[in-house]
Amino acid sequence: MNQQLEGVVLRGHAGGWMVYVELLASTLICQARGRLKKEKTSIITGDRVELDEVSPANGTAVIAAVRERHNVLTRPPLANVDQVVIVQSLSPREWSLHLCNRYLVHFQLELPNCMPVLCLNKADLLEKAEIEPLQKIYQNLGYTVIITSTVTSNGLDELKKCLEGKVSVISGPSGVGKSSLLNVLHPGLKLKVDEREEETGFGRHVTTCSELYSVELGRGKSTTWMADTPGFGIYDLRYPEPSQVSRQFPEIRELAEDCKFSNCLHLVEHECNVLSNMDKVDQKRYESYAQIVAEAQHEKRQRKDSSTKVEAAVKNVGGKQGKGVVVPRLSQRYREQSRRKIRQELVQIDVDDVDDEES
Ligand code: GDP
Ligand code: ZN
Repeated sequence: MNQQLEGVVLRGHAGGWMVYVELLASTLICQARGRLKKEKTSIITGDRVELDEVSPANGTAVIAAVRERHNVLTRPPLANVDQVVIVQSLSPREWSLHLCNRYLVHFQLELPNCMPVLCLNKADLLEKAEIEPLQKIYQNLGYTVIITSTVTSNGLDELKKCLEGKVSVISGPSGVGKSSLLNVLHPGLKLKVDEREEETGFGRHVTTCSELYSVELGRGKSTTWMADTPGFGIYDLRYPEPSQVSRQFPEIRELAEDCKFSNCLHLVEHECNVLSNMDKVDQKRYESYAQIVAEAQHEKRQRKDSSTKVEAAVKNVGGKQGKGVVVPRLSQRYREQSRRKIRQELVQIDVDDVDDEES
């Protein structure tokens, strides 16, 4: 019997997983034990797993069990995350306070007890006098804000300090410099960096595979892990219920406690404590808040529409004790066609000898 070892899942690999085993200082290609497959146990990047049948010579092992997760991100799928670092670009062409807030809202919803860290990159492209007020807005709300530039190397030490010994997810729109940052922090990684400056945040994804990297920061002994979030774009950002958006804005959440109505959206309502204290809220943040509420309302309506369509397309065929089954509702045309077909078949049966009735 091999001794049972533990490892961390780095990424999926050809129907299996690449698992890093610290004790062996090596990465093994692993398949899940049949029982786990049968039980449909999900194994995702970041999972801590117990290994059997470890063969360092072949570089393989079998995943026998998945340890309980501290937390899990669903979009992008990742387990056991210590912190999320949201990277935004300060380049005047790319900076968007609203997009920055959208990322914050998304990751606050995903990991409710974990304030994201903001990394504002490409600081070389904006005047210091313009950076400071932005930094202040978020710092005053309790966020850690790190200003970086991979061109001047400013802020990289601070970023390293923040990452050290933790499992961090690096996220942000395409083209803000995530791969560049990872590469300067750990030159061995050689992540592909998009050479072409992108016009918008909607550009193609340069990285394609969800992966956890161990990063040598040349400091303490504890391993530093980072995950890029490839394939995760602005269309994957989650919206809360419209009435819950204010919870994701610390400054509005605080004031909202004294609004008259518990479901106040702080937009036009009477006796709204947020509206009576607008001098305490940054104007741009408030505008972005209102926009997110509007977007969340729109998304909710769309969700409702599409579920009504699904409801219209299926019907519940009742069984006993609520054991009904859902079957597709046949369209009128199909129903007519099939009735005609049944009639024709009946006519045929009448005419023909009823020999092969059983078949
Ligand atoms: P990603 O899509 O977020 O991984 O972004 P990349 O790392 O691929 O970078 C996108 C572009 O921004 C590349 O052309 C980089 O050279 C450039 N870039 C990255 N960091 C900086 C920076 O700090 N300053 C400037 N001026 N450009 C940067
Ligand atoms: Zn209110």
